[in-house]
Amino acid sequence: MRKQIAAANWKMNLTLEQGMALTADILKATLTTDITHQVILGVPFPYLIAIKAQIGNQENVFAAAQNCYSKASGAYTGEVSVEMLKSIGITHVIVGHSERREYFNESNAMLADKINICFEYGMTPIFCCGEPLAIREAETQNGFVATQLEESLFHLSPEQLTGFIIAYEPIWAIGTGKTATNEQAQEIQAYIRKVIAAKYGSTVADSISILYGGSVKAANAKEIFAQQDVDGGLVGGASLVATDFVTIINSLK
Ligand code: PEP
Repeated sequence: MRKQIAAANWKMNLTLEQGMALTADILKATLTTDITHQVILGVPFPYLIAIKAQIGNQENVFAAAQNCYSKASGAYTGEVSVEMLKSIGITHVIVGHSERREYFNESNAMLADKINICFEYGMTPIFCCGEPLAIREAETQNGFVATQLEESLFHLSPEQLTGFIIAYEPIWAIGTGKTATNEQAQEIQAYIRKVIAAKYGSTVADSISILYGGSVKAANAKEIFAQQDVDGGLVGGASLVATDFVTIINSLK
């Protein structure tokens, strides 16, 4: 069975002290013993070493970076490479979050480079895709998301895509309190799997964990995660509150 994942995205929130207190509360409550479940904490760069140390040997719980650069190394002031992340023991990175795409002009092509460098260094990417409101209102979201997948992922080999992690996040639902309905989430995530199956076959498509993101809360996680093609969530706001995030983790199917 493909992995069911509760991923937190702290974004640019919390001090180190607050982040460590939150992590302690999450680990204390922990968690499920189901080996198909994973918890991934997407934390700010300066906290990665501390949070990873706090997690220790806890199986199925990982600290993730929220971004990485597309080049291996060099004169890119302020950027962080995948090799640097690997050198501090980090195994996961969020790639292509809509806030990166919108505020930092990350294109599908640049994200393809980021995915490539992740594979080069054995880093697990969590690849984000999803449409803005105007595209949803025009009912062209399927084509929009298919293009994101084609331009950033479809040069990969079947082996590379096996067990891959995608987070579908409709931009109009991120941080807005407006969640996609269960049906909307299921419909487009089934479509994403279908597009992947058409190119790579159903074995590869069925192995991919497709998370839903966009105002997942303690109160709605269970019903969204119950959808057949929703394999957990990427969670922003609600991941900053330990009791809420623990409820979300325990809502994985
Ligand atoms: C996100 O940051 O990816 C996200 C989905 O945020 P929120 O849960 O706050 O909508």
